[in-house]
Amino acid sequence: MKINISLHALFLFLFMSVTSGAFAASKIEFTLSFPEPQTHYVEVSMQVDGLAKDFVDVKMPVWAPGSYLIREFARNVEAVSAKNSSGKSLPVEKTSKNTWRVRSAKGNFTLNYRVYCFEISVRTPFVDTKHGFISPTGVFMFVDGMINHPATVTVQPYKGWSKISTGLEPVAGRANTFYAPDFDILFDSPIEVGNQDVFAFNAAGVNYEVAMYGGGNYNKERLKKDMTKIVEEETAVFGENPNKRYVFLVHNYNVGSGGLEHLNSTVLGVARNGYDTEAGYWGFLKLVAHEHFHLWNVKRLRPIALGPFDYENENYTTNLWIAEGFTSYYEKVILERAGLTPPERFVEGLAGDMAAVDNQPGSKVQSANDASFDAWIKQYRPAENSKNTTISYYSKGSLIALVMDLEIIQATNAKKNLDDVMKAMYEEYYKKKKRGYTDAEFKAMLEKVAGKSFDQIYQDYVYDTKTIDYNKYFSYAGISVVNDNANSSQPYLGIATDEKNGKVVVSNVSRGSAAYVDGINFNDEIIAIDGVRINAYQSDAQRAGEFDRALLNKKVGNKLKFTISRDGLVQQIDVTLRANPNVKYRMVADTSPTAEELAVRKKWLSLK
Ligand SMILES: [Zn+2]
Repeated sequence: MKINISLHALFLFLFMSVTSGAFAASKIEFTLSFPEPQTHYVEVSMQVDGLAKDFVDVKMPVWAPGSYLIREFARNVEAVSAKNSSGKSLPVEKTSKNTWRVRSAKGNFTLNYRVYCFEISVRTPFVDTKHGFISPTGVFMFVDGMINHPATVTVQPYKGWSKISTGLEPVAGRANTFYAPDFDILFDSPIEVGNQDVFAFNAAGVNYEVAMYGGGNYNKERLKKDMTKIVEEETAVFGENPNKRYVFLVHNYNVGSGGLEHLNSTVLGVARNGYDTEAGYWGFLKLVAHEHFHLWNVKRLRPIALGPFDYENENYTTNLWIAEGFTSYYEKVILERAGLTPPERFVEGLAGDMAAVDNQPGSKVQSANDASFDAWIKQYRPAENSKNTTISYYSKGSLIALVMDLEIIQATNAKKNLDDVMKAMYEEYYKKKKRGYTDAEFKAMLEKVAGKSFDQIYQDYVYDTKTIDYNKYFSYAGISVVNDNANSSQPYLGIATDEKNGKVVVSNVSRGSAAYVDGINFNDEIIAIDGVRINAYQSDAQRAGEFDRALLNKKVGNKLKFTISRDGLVQQIDVTLRANPNVKYRMVADTSPTAEELAVRKKWLSLK
């Protein structure tokens, strides 16, 4: 085994020497322009100099790191052509879904292509007359074998566009030109071009820029104040803020939300008119806290499989429950520490998170470990049966973080918490070893900090699908978890519906429910129950009211006669009502906790 590894390393070394020799003097310069933004195209010119090969393969990434789905960005590419420095056309041949082979490329060549950019999201490029959003993995190609080479990007804004916002460093003396030391940095640095509203603040010694596209009812001064608090609390977890500059690119949409993390920037998608409602504003701050926390957790402290990236294939890891789940836990913890969520509301919110996981039948089918590994085929491809077979590594991972936090605090007599693990992992693997961590290494650090085994927590909650014993962990802090539905005899159908063309159509059937057992299916049109028409109101609440009416005065064990249409055939199905299995948690804090419980509670909630 040892010999094999050495030989392999030697081979790799020789191979890399040859490769870098071939590309020694190479220089790669991109120019982006938007001659017809109303058609949603960005024109890309990629000039490659100093090649010593007869042909090169130029490739488009197939996915955007942070968003674990093969998106096939090459499908938006067209008009690929190449020429040499004297303007002579060079032959270009497509050799795979995302590869263009340029022949006679010795010396230098320029590759020109266009990319159609019209999908609104934080991880896909978008161009219209108002702005250009360059999501880099969807726009920039790379030369096979040259990921480690530097590149420059010159942006030629469309007429009237006056600003460029990006985490990339500007090149001195060259207008609108930016430098990336390698393609990992280039692919990690989105660029916003247009007339965005830009404001700045300094926090934790770092210069922060916020670039707001799309308008919105935000209050800059309030945002500066609250975002500063978030930055400072997050920096305190890891003990340092590794950036000099950090850019928030915020896309304000009519509706919608999302975020994607990068090394020294992030892209946030939010509803433009949500800032002045309490829930909307808090939701924005939560998104800020989440994506900004990623600059450490996942962008630097990362599972070993997540970097250096393979941009052409799935990158499998079983640790997204840490990368995303822990970040989801901390987004809430940080807002509580920053005084932006009152402690009581933080605790109540966890009750809702716990119920959401436990009430999803898939939480008994898929583990946090498996949810992470299968992100590529499941998390980003939800379908009608997903709730019955999967659990999100975000929500389950967040609860595992909660349990581990409480376990560490209890085991160390309230001297340490999960922060100590995150900080020690960051020091050991990002700073000292300069690599990602393995499954075993993360667990070892938890055990080192807590001074006890985490075997059982891993076995039950990471690898297995056991329901979390919340009362065990919350009892450390003198808090009990009550299930208000424990003795419910309330009958329950187990279906969700949508309104489609004036019809009531089943969108989900919950595993184990009455509807599931008796054969109501996804896509069935529900016409009537017990001979009474079910009306297709457009709002979910009104449609739910129709089903409440059908259940009025019914008990568990009673039969309902469903009239449905399935693929155009009308039929009757009897459904025997079952009890509602869903939990409804409520947190009750002991008003006279022991000194030990109070110490755990204070440490957990960062209370003085
Ligand atoms: Zn995330």
